[in-house]
This record gives sequence, C-alpha cells and structure tokens, in this order.
Amino acid sequence: MRDRWSDTAAATLDGVDLLVYATRTIGQEPDLVLWGGGNTSLKATVKDHVGRDTRVLWIKGSGSDMKSITAKQFTPLRLDDLLTLRAHDAMGDEEMVSFQNRCMLEPGAPKPSIETLLHAFLPAPHIYHTHADAICTLVDQTDSRSLIRQVYGAEVPLVSYVRPGFGLSKLAAEAFARQPQARAMILDKHGLVTWGKTAKDAYLETIRIVTKAERFVRQGAPSSRPRRGTRTIRVSPPDSRTPAAGLMPVLRGALSRQRRVIVTLDDEPTTLAFVNHPDAERLSQVGPFTPDHILHTKPRPLFLRLPEQAPHKGTGLPLADHVGKAVERYRDDYVRYFEHYKPTGVTMLDPHPRVILVPGVGLLTTGKDRRAARITHDLYVHTMHVIQQASAIGAYTALPAQALCDFEYWPMENFKLSLLPPEKPLSRRIVLITGAAGAIGRAVATRLHREGASVILTDVDDRKLRALSDELNRESGEETTVAIPMDVTREDSVREAFEHAILTYGGLDILVSNAGIARSAPVEALSLTDWNESMAVNATGHFLVCREAMRLFRSQGLGGNIVVVATKNVLAPGKDFGPYSASKAAQVQLGRVLAVEGADIGVRVNMVNPDAVFEGSGLWSPALREARAKAYVTALDVGEAVLFLASDSSSKTTGAMIPVDGGCREAFPR
Ligand code: ZN
Repeated sequence: MRDRWSDTAAATLDGVDLLVYATRTIGQEPDLVLWGGGNTSLKATVKDHVGRDTRVLWIKGSGSDMKSITAKQFTPLRLDDLLTLRAHDAMGDEEMVSFQNRCMLEPGAPKPSIETLLHAFLPAPHIYHTHADAICTLVDQTDSRSLIRQVYGAEVPLVSYVRPGFGLSKLAAEAFARQPQARAMILDKHGLVTWGKTAKDAYLETIRIVTKAERFVRQGAPSSRPRRGTRTIRVSPPDSRTPAAGLMPVLRGALSRQRRVIVTLDDEPTTLAFVNHPDAERLSQVGPFTPDHILHTKPRPLFLRLPEQAPHKGTGLPLADHVGKAVERYRDDYVRYFEHYKPTGVTMLDPHPRVILVPGVGLLTTGKDRRAARITHDLYVHTMHVIQQASAIGAYTALPAQALCDFEYWPMENFKLSLLPPEKPLSRRIVLITGAAGAIGRAVATRLHREGASVILTDVDDRKLRALSDELNRESGEETTVAIPMDVTREDSVREAFEHAILTYGGLDILVSNAGIARSAPVEALSLTDWNESMAVNATGHFLVCREAMRLFRSQGLGGNIVVVATKNVLAPGKDFGPYSASKAAQVQLGRVLAVEGADIGVRVNMVNPDAVFEGSGLWSPALREARAKAYVTALDVGEAVLFLASDSSSKTTGAMIPVDGGCREAFPR
C-alpha cells in the first residue's frame, strides 16, 4: 500500500486541519476506503464557549466522504461526557444517538458517525477506521481468526462481528484493555482500526497493517494466476458491444417498473474475467465484503445469463421475457429474504438489484443517476477483487443473511438516505436532443438538465457539443450529460449514436427532435440542393431519429416521449421559406402520425412551434437577422415549452402543438 503522506503538506497543519489532511490522504486510496465508508477522529483539549478547558473528540459526520471531507464535516463532542457510557453494559442505538447529540459542542454540526463511541473508548488521540480490500480479504473467510494470527501473530487483536454501535464499541475497548500495546485492531467481516500518538503515526500504521495483508495475499494466492484448464476469458472486440446495446434497454425496462433507473456498463477485460468465470455465479451470491456497502449494492447482485440464442435486436420479445422473469425471480427472492429476516417495524426497501452480472456482457449497475450508478459500480469492482483474492487464499465468506438484513434495515444506516437532497422532477429520465449545439438545442438541454435529467447531446458540430457537455457536467459535478456527434441525415450515424447513448445511460425516455436548417429563397430561384438538404435534415433526419427512438421505446417497455421542435411557419407560411416550411410541415405531420402509432405503447408526441429565434442561432444569415431584429422569442421561451411537454405535467397530452411566437393569430393551431 502506497504511503501518500507528505511532511511538507502536513507541516503547516494542526488540529482539525491536520485531521482533514490525514482523512483525505486515506480517502484518496480506493483500496482503503470507498464512497462514504470509514471514519477518522481526533482527541484534544480546547476551550469551550465559556472558556473552560474541555476534552473534545472530533469525529467524521455520518455519510460524508473521506476523499473530499472538509473541517465542517467533523463533529466536536465532549469526550468526558461520552466516556461516562463506558460504565454501561448495554445501550440501544436510539438512546446512544440521543446521548451523543447532547454531547455535541456545536449545535449545528453534522450527526456524528455511528462508530463515535468506538473512537471515544480507545484512548489514542488519532484513530482511523477503514474497510481496506486486503484486510477484508483476510476476514471474509470461514477461519478468519487463524488467518489473522498467521499474518500478524498476536500483534493485532481480532474483534468478533457485531453491528457497529454500543456493543462493538465495548468489545473494541475490552480488546484494547487486554492488549494495551496494540496499535491496531481488526473487526471481523468489517475492517480495520489503527491509532497513534500523532496523525502521521496513525496513518503509517494503517499503511503498515494493510501492506502486510497485501503481501500475504499476494504470496498465498498462487491460484489467482490463470490455472491450466480454466476457461479462456473472452475479451470483447470493440464491435461486440451490440449484445449490451440490445440488452440494456430491456433490462432497464424490467428494473424500472416502479421507479426508473439509469443503467451503466463496465465491460473492461478484468471485469469480464470475473463475470465469465465458471465460479462467478456462486461467488457473487455469497454477499458483500463489508456490510457498509449494502445500501448501495443490496445484499446480492442479479446474475443473469442471456438466453442461448436470444435475438438481441428486432422485436426483442424473447429477450424481454427472459430478462423480465430473471428480475421477477430476484424480486421474489428479495421479498422472501425480507419477510424471513426483517426486524420488526420496518418497511421493505426497493427490491430490485443494483448490480447485474451478465457473462459475455459485463457488470451493469443502476442508480437514480450516473453518479449513484458509479458509486455502486466502484463498490462492486472492489467486491470482485476481494472475492477473487479471498477465494485464492481460502473460501470467500460473508455475513449470514440475518446479519445482512439487520444491517440493511438498521435505522442508523438508513438515516444516510434521508441526507440525500430531494429528487428533481426529471431525475431518472434520459433525454436525447438533436441539434443540441444550436441556440434552441442548448437552451432545451440546459433547462432539462437543471431539472435533473441525464442528457445526451447530439449535433454535427462536435466542438460546440463538447463545450456544452463540459459546461453542464461541471455544473452538476458529474457525467450527467454526454456529447455524441450525430448526423441526423445518415442512417448509420443515427444508429451508432443511439447505441452509444444506450451504452452510456441504459435507455431513453425523452427525444427532443430539434435539429434543423433554414434555407431561404423564392421557389423560382430555389436550387435543388437547397431543397434536398432541407428535406434531408428537417424531414428525413427527423424520421430517422424518431424511428430509432420508437424501436428503443418498444424494447424498453416504459412508454416514451417525443417533443418535436417545429416552427410557426408550418401553420403560417411566409414567402421565401418554401424548403423550410415544406420540410418542417413533413416533420410535424410525421410527429402527428407517431402520436397515433405510439399511443398503444404509451409514447406521447407533441410539437412546439416557435417563431424565429435569432440570438445565438446559426440558422439565419446576418442580413435576415437584421431584417428580423425586432423578433422577441428567445431560446429560453422554447426551452420552457419543451420542458412542459417533456415532463409529467403534460402526461395526458399527445398530438398537441404549442405555439411559442408571442401571439401570432395566423399561427394558431386549428
Ligand atoms: Zn466501518
């Protein structure tokens, strides 16, 4: 394990600032701790609000992430008050939490970690707790006790598994009392605790203990190298993602019957090596390597084999049935597990899998957005690694189902869910916008993105597209948009872009067909090229993207939504706009036909008819722009109308046309 401590960086820091530095240094190493896991603490004497010397424990707030933690995310508590609890034999979680709350030095500080008392009861001033992969590889074994002894001798005590809280804190304190020279202890089926007189000592102890475990695992794992006779791992050639592109919308459909999810794919060679392994199905069902992951990963993944000769394209029906049944079986199993092991007074959480392993395809993870799916993904990538290593040195073992269920339905753990911000109206929705680099496309993309949608930006202008995607992703801090170059006039380009979109987010909910060009000339002077180009983009391009979207909506089985950005010219033609008006009229009429054809499968299709939008638009020549400088419709106005049609606010509306022209009697739909 790499030592990342920098004396230069730490030299100017002390107190909580040094704790922040140490915590981030640990947090940036994913083999030590992942996404909100682990915690750290500091003990020191400071003056309280009336100037009394007070011994204080600063502990990481519940749910915050170590790699990006700030000083405000640590909670200061009165240590002497906490220590009075050592005299108790037992204490319930709620009683303990309300006691802890009364020990807080600052009323507005975050809720302290559930492992607060463990940190309080151990005397060292600096204590760090991680779920290191290598440590979990040793403790996720049937005979973890003898393995720990083999690796560390008597140096490191092993504390038997109990759920974090008062009981674990007492056990840890007793283990320390028996062995006061120890500088670390290992929590069975859970993780590692190290400590020291200084922050650096405690950090280096973490590195030393983990490195020892890593060396042991490496030396003792000859079978982790490919064995003769083991099935060769097939690594996908670049074009063999097609099964994934066929599977993902079907899977998303089956997983989204109650609430929609984003689905992401990992088909890296190392991932496929695990998923394709003959033992993968059995090993994947053993359980998580530390219970801390369970809120994100559920107790078990869905292991899904594709039907032997499933038609991945076409109607998708046999594949849909197959996948639907597999998801149903998983759900039924989950309900049985819940009913059998549930603690009293809890309601069942979402019974759908978050991790899906598909031989030949890879690791798929789900979430309300790409960030949530990525967290689950990262946790499972480490799980695969721990399972592989643990199987190589022994037999991978996890907690029994009862302990998993107790953890999954533990109110202290579920509290973290209540810290999440409320979901936005278009959260869990995937939108594809054509012509996204233009003025209207950009406004629509920005508007829908702010409402929480995952947005696929397409255009022929690759450079502008990427700039917009970068800008929106910076705003959300996540890959909530993706830029995919697409030429709507080319069948292969449309097909490839849709495939790319599916592989990024798993499917599609809303298509905004917006790409368009405007050529202007009286018909007598109109060139055939201008006519053909207008038809190619505005009419044929619209047909090609709508056809692909309709196929996708059908295989997904979740309905769908198409918003057509047309023009007021469709209803109020003006002279010199023959190719524009005629091709846009074709676009609208096809939209109305699709509203009829899509009704059976819950697809809505609506039109927005804006007046000319001049600001930032590439559609119009400078001369024309000047001539029409008085126009007052903005791209934002169009964005608002598209948002209304894209959202559930208009859920019963289809085949409609909304003018966005500031009041133009000739363009009233009739
Ligand atoms: Zn832990």
